[in-house]
Amino acid sequence: MHMLKIKDKEFTLYLSQKELERKVKELGEQISKDYQGKSPIVLGVLNGAFMFLSDLMKEVEVPLELSFIKIASYSGTNSTGKVKEVIGLSEDVKGRHVLIVEDIVDTGLSMTHLKEMVEAQKPASIAIASLLVKPEALKEPIDIDYVGFDIPTKFVVGYGLDYDGFGRNLKEIYQLK
Ligand code: 5GP
Repeated sequence: MHMLKIKDKEFTLYLSQKELERKVKELGEQISKDYQGKSPIVLGVLNGAFMFLSDLMKEVEVPLELSFIKIASYSGTNSTGKVKEVIGLSEDVKGRHVLIVEDIVDTGLSMTHLKEMVEAQKPASIAIASLLVKPEALKEPIDIDYVGFDIPTKFVVGYGLDYDGFGRNLKEIYQLK
C-alpha cells in the first residue's frame, strides 16, 4: 500500500516495515552495547512511542526496567507550541541510568521539557532515543543519543504516530502528501 487516506488527508509511504525493522534492530544493538553492565530504567513516552518502544525493547539485551510516561503538546497537524505536564514520572529514577524513548522530536520543546523534569530527579545519566527527528524544525539544539531517521519537516503517521487519533496501528510510516 503506497497511498493512504486518513480523514481529509492523503499520505504516501515513507518508511517501509523492512526499513523500520532494520533500524530498530541496529539501535537495539547499539543500546545493548552502551549499557553493558548497567541496568537502565527506560521511560517510554506514550502514546506515540508505543510501537517503537515495544519493538526496540525486544532488541535490547541488558536487564532493564520499563516505565511509561505521558506528555502532550499536539492537536491535529500543527504544534501548539504548548508543553503540558509530564504524567507518570516518579522519583524512582534517582541515581539510575535513564533512557527516554520517544517516537519523534519535532520542535524539541517536549523533549527539552521532559529532560529537565528527569534531570531534576538526579539520575546517574540520561540518554534519549527517538525513532524520528526533524532537524529543521528544532527550536533549540538538543542532543539525541539514538536517532532512527532524520526526516524533513513534514507530518508523518503510522508505527505509533497518529493523525487525529488514527493511523497508530500501521506497520509503516506515511508522509503527508
Ligand atoms: P515537539 O515538542 O518536538 O515539537 O513535538 C513532539 C511531539 O509532537 C511528538 O511526541 C509527537 O507527538 C508530535 N509530533 C511532532 N511531529 C509529528 C508528526 O509528524 N506526526 C505526528 N503524528 N506527531 C508529531
